[in-house]
Amino acid sequence: MPGFLALAEEFGIVVLDDAAHAFPAALQGRGVGSFGCPTAFSFYATKTITTGEGGMLTTDDARVADRVRLMSLHGISRDAWKRYTATGNWHYEVVEAGYKYNLTDIASALGRVQLGRASTLLGRRGAIACRYHEALSGLPAVQVPPGSCRCRSTPP
Ligand SMILES: *Cc1c(COP(=O)(O)O)cnc(C)c1O
Repeated sequence: MPGFLALAEEFGIVVLDDAAHAFPAALQGRGVGSFGCPTAFSFYATKTITTGEGGMLTTDDARVADRVRLMSLHGISRDAWKRYTATGNWHYEVVEAGYKYNLTDIASALGRVQLGRASTLLGRRGAIACRYHEALSGLPAVQVPPGSCRCRSTPP
C-alpha cells in the first residue's frame, strides 16, 4: 500500500481501497483502512465479520464523509436522528438524487458484537486455511499461496 499510494500521488491518481474482504488484515502493524484513502469494507455473510448485508466506508477526509453520508440516504439533508430527536427539526430537503445504501441500526448492532469477536473469527479462519495448506501443499499439481510473516491476511 505505501508504494502504491506513493505512485498514485506522483501521478495525481485518487485511490479508493476495496477492502471488502480484508478486515482485520494488517500490513507492518497498520490496519487496513488506515492508509489515508477512502476504504470500503463489506459485512456480507462470507466476510470475517458480518451484519448479514451492508458495509462501511472509512475516510479521514470530511468532504468525502459528508458526500457519502448524503448519497447513502436518498440525498436527503437530514437523517431520522437529526429530524426526530429533541434538538432536531422535521424539515429536510432532497438535495441530490441519492441511493439507499445506509447500514441499518439493527445491522450496526450486530456488527458491534462481531467486531469484538473479530480476532477469534480470524483465528478460526486461519486454522482452517492452515489445514488446507498442510493437506494440499504436498500435491504436485497444487500450488498453495506462500505464507508471510509481514502480513496478517484474511483467508477467504
Ligand atoms: C465481498 C467482496 C465484494 C462485495 O461486497 P458486497 O458487500 O457483497 O457488495 C467486493 N469486493 C471484494 C474484494 C469482496 O471480497
